Amino acid sequence: MAGVFVMGSINQDFVLRVERRPGPGETVTDAELSLHPGGKGANQAAAAALLGAEVTFLGRVGDDGLGEPLVRNLEEKGADASLVERVPGRSTGAAFITVTPDGENAITVAPGANRALSPRDVEAARERIAACRVLVAQMEIPRETVLRGARVASEVDTRVLLNLAPPFRVSRELLSLLDPLVVNEHEAAFLLEEPVEGVEGALAAAPKLRRLGARSAVITLGAAGAVVADGESVAHFPAPEVEVVDTTGAGDAFVGALATRLAAGEALKEAVSYAVRAGAAAVTSEGAQGALPTPEVVERL
Ligand code: ADP
Repeated sequence: MAGVFVMGSINQDFVLRVERRPGPGETVTDAELSLHPGGKGANQAAAAALLGAEVTFLGRVGDDGLGEPLVRNLEEKGADASLVERVPGRSTGAAFITVTPDGENAITVAPGANRALSPRDVEAARERIAACRVLVAQMEIPRETVLRGARVASEVDTRVLLNLAPPFRVSRELLSLLDPLVVNEHEAAFLLEEPVEGVEGALAAAPKLRRLGARSAVITLGAAGAVVADGESVAHFPAPEVEVVDTTGAGDAFVGALATRLAAGEALKEAVSYAVRAGAAAVTSEGAQGALPTPEVVERL
């Protein structure tokens, strides 16, 4: 029962380092391309597997040749990717990311086969979900699929962790199944329709997310760590100070680590305290999955 079931996106990331972005109709010829496995679902599954969780991943790839290496990568990280199927006629999910020398990212996502993951696929995995202690989802797959996953999980007594990224309006019914809802400051502000800034802002906002319906709520705060509202209490866990190389994937490392500890039976606050350190470790090297920490790295922080 210590397993983590991750359902979500699996993408090929194309990262282009450019001096500047082309304007409309213009061509820039000095870009440097690097390819990375990505997608929030796959990143979180890889993070949890590397931290020692028994991970099952549910997702969809296209029939364009990009999918197989991504699936193999997940298996190399230690996740069970046997539920991933190829969708005929669809392209594998892809993200096109241009990075300028100032570190600014501009991202275009083509969801492709991720859009084909259906509520029926989740239903078909019911027994696998029942065999896990925690189900993890994000919002890069269809909303009705996320809702079905949360419903199935609650029916079979599997705890639901939803990372509401990118942010969407969700029903009170879905919120009521979440233990916890995990968002960053921007996503929290979107849900609450008011600004959420810094530790003080998050300490006030997390209980409001519970009042919206979530059973428990976690707000991540970048270098300031995270705030958790559980029952009647709210707590802040600061992040350790680290040398920042690349913040891509910090949120995914956080979610993967949180799920891992919850699946191991830890209480939410202790699990958040661990996840904050895992997120911090992920910013100390480059890439989303290239920077995922091992348990030894997290313990050292
Ligand atoms: P997202 O990438 O989803 O916006 P955050 O930026 O809030 O998420 O980061 C998630 C977690 O990663 C934080 O809670 C923190 O633990 C860690 N983290 C992110 N940025 C830093 C940083 N500059 N220094 C230390 N830890 C960080």
